Amino acid sequence: MSEQEITGILQQQNSLLNRVEEVLAENQRLRTEFLELTEREERFRQIAENVREVFFVISAKTDEILYISPTYETVWGRSCQSLYEDPQSWLFAIHPEDSFKAIATIETQFRTGDDFEEEYRIIRPDQSICWVRVRAFPVRDVMGKVNRFVGIAEDITKRRDAEEALRKSEEQFRLTFEMAPIGMAISTLKGKFTRVNYALSNALGYSQVELLELSFAEISHPDDWETHHNLEKMLINSEESNFQIEKRFIAKDGRIVDTLLKVVVVCDANNKPLHFNNQIVDITERKNMEQQLIHDALHDALTGLPNRALFMDRLEQQLKRSQRQGGYLFAVLFLDLDRFKVVNDSVGHLIGDKLLIEIGRRLEKSIAPTDTVARLGGDEFTILLEDISSKSQAILVAESIYQTLTFPFHIQGYELFTTASIGIALSSHGYEKPEDILRDADLTMYSAKEQGKARYEVFDYSLRDRALQRLELETDLRRALDRGEFEVYYQPITSLALGTLSGFEALARWNHPLKGAIGPADFIPVCEETGLIIPLGNWLLEEACKTARSWQLKYPEHPPIKMSVNLSAQQFREPQLINEVERILAATNLAGKFLKLEITESVLIDNLEMVTEIILSLRKQEIQFSIDDFGTGYSSLSYLHRFPVDTIKIDRSFVSQMQADGENSAIVKAIVTLAHMLNMDVIAEGIETTSQLAQLKLLQCEYGQGFFFSRPLCKEKAEAFIANSPQW
Ligand code: C2E
Ligand code: MG
Ligand code: MG
Repeated sequence: MSEQEITGILQQQNSLLNRVEEVLAENQRLRTEFLELTEREERFRQIAENVREVFFVISAKTDEILYISPTYETVWGRSCQSLYEDPQSWLFAIHPEDSFKAIATIETQFRTGDDFEEEYRIIRPDQSICWVRVRAFPVRDVMGKVNRFVGIAEDITKRRDAEEALRKSEEQFRLTFEMAPIGMAISTLKGKFTRVNYALSNALGYSQVELLELSFAEISHPDDWETHHNLEKMLINSEESNFQIEKRFIAKDGRIVDTLLKVVVVCDANNKPLHFNNQIVDITERKNMEQQLIHDALHDALTGLPNRALFMDRLEQQLKRSQRQGGYLFAVLFLDLDRFKVVNDSVGHLIGDKLLIEIGRRLEKSIAPTDTVARLGGDEFTILLEDISSKSQAILVAESIYQTLTFPFHIQGYELFTTASIGIALSSHGYEKPEDILRDADLTMYSAKEQGKARYEVFDYSLRDRALQRLELETDLRRALDRGEFEVYYQPITSLALGTLSGFEALARWNHPLKGAIGPADFIPVCEETGLIIPLGNWLLEEACKTARSWQLKYPEHPPIKMSVNLSAQQFREPQLINEVERILAATNLAGKFLKLEITESVLIDNLEMVTEIILSLRKQEIQFSIDDFGTGYSSLSYLHRFPVDTIKIDRSFVSQMQADGENSAIVKAIVTLAHMLNMDVIAEGIETTSQLAQLKLLQCEYGQGFFFSRPLCKEKAEAFIANSPQW
């Protein structure tokens, strides 16, 4: 072998070795590359299989699933294998409500090769529902052609549920806000409205859109804005978290709307104030009602005039002023209508009420606007005259009131007249309490009334002394009955034709332990006012009936003694009257026909219907009735026929005027004649002289009573009178 050949072989060998080295190196590189690839795939697999999301790779040509990560099984609830076998199966899992849209998007993506992103619900084989978010994007080859899609799907059920819950709660808030019966508004820290509800816009008369253009300041009552604003500042400075105030708004039409406003500040996570939540309750109605209640509490419902409470309040203010300011003078007028009861009873309460309203108006017109007319109740009015110069100024007002009341009132076809008695009290007497000056004015009014009504009087101290005496009398009277201080006196009534005793009139006497005998004129009126007349009257009636019966039994040969007993108006108003009279007759065993009850004209006139009813009822017991003091009251000859009575007692004033020559007997004659025409008999009261007796006999007056025959006598003396059976 030549050297050349050997060199050639060596060279060949070298190149072979080189080649082997090269192959080995290539081998090594490939091996490394392979290892790297495997490692990378392993890493991908690990990632793909360990994250929460589902990874997938789909062939763009065949729709075939090239890879699906195992999380698919938990999310879809189906095996990966089933998907490899049926790549369409995950389309069928889509919730029917979402499938149309989802499938359309998938198909578009396959056609266009666009990115894909969609959220939809799937139904797992166990029927549970899962929200998924699927994103896929195309992978292209070197030529730019899409050969596969790679994607991720994640379970977003929790997020969707949270979103749904949020949406629901927002909806709920919206509804609550919108439908709330109270006004609600969200406002910026600067007071602009950002959201308002219907109730608020309704209360303020603005549309919701109009309100959103406005701020709190613009619709607040100017006097209330500052308070509101200052409180808001406190919320902004985190000094408070909320506040509540009563506040007035001005509605679109200018109305004032009273509200209760509650404001809460809403802050972010860092406690930085964001906005205000406002709740606005319309309390206008409540406020109006409160106002009305206050007004009602201080005013008389019928006339709308101030009532006692308000009057006393103003009086107190005046009193304070006069105490502060030397020489300051004011006056109180106490006014009581005369015989208002007669109006009420004759034309009815409705007209009576209207009359009171009209009188209230006239009184208001008689005074200065700064003065006060109040109605204390019933027919009592009071007037407060402020800052007067003298007593005569108060008198002038009283006179002008007197004047204004002289004009008749025309009410529902009736022409009504009224007068009033007025008591005037001036502040110059140094009063301490408002009640005191009112009491004195009242007292003075009473005195004016006693002096004959339709007049005014000015208070002086003697009036108070009289009132004190009167109070004492009242106190003593209350005890008198229990202490047996009353006694019945009997005054004979004689038959003028026969000249014999016919009966007696029972008359009350009070034997006061210190003051001695007191006549009825001094205590009967007080008894009537205090109600004491009821027990006193009953006692006296029983006593008189008992006495009459005992005399009848004791003097059987004498024609049965009749007993006349006076009944006062008060007793007629007492519902027990009939029962009581019947009880007494039964208890004393006196026959009704021997009892004669005396009533005055005014009792009849004041309440004709009711009194007639009572009389008719008592007449069933044969009790008789006579009209006492006839002629002094309403001169009611024209009424006479309407009175269901048996006897007329001619008042002694007529009898006493009858003179020996027959003068002044015309009235007596007229009364006797009329009474006889009406089938009534007549008793003449106060016969003192033989001449009066003679004339009355001539006029055929049936009975007589008077000092001529006898003064009223105590029981024993009266009995002696029967025993003697005198003859005239
Ligand atoms: P009256 O019912 O008209 O009684 C008659 C009064 O005239 C009696 O006065 C009597 O004393 C007086 N009188 C009788 N005859 C004469 C006379 O010839 N001359 C004068 N100047 N007076 C005479 P009295 O007892 O003072 O009673 C006054 C009034 O008091 C009575 O007037 C009667 O209205 C009332 N009264 C008396 N007792 C009662 C009573 O028990 N109940 C009631 N409700 N009233 C009574
Ligand atoms: Mg009498
Ligand atoms: Mg009389």
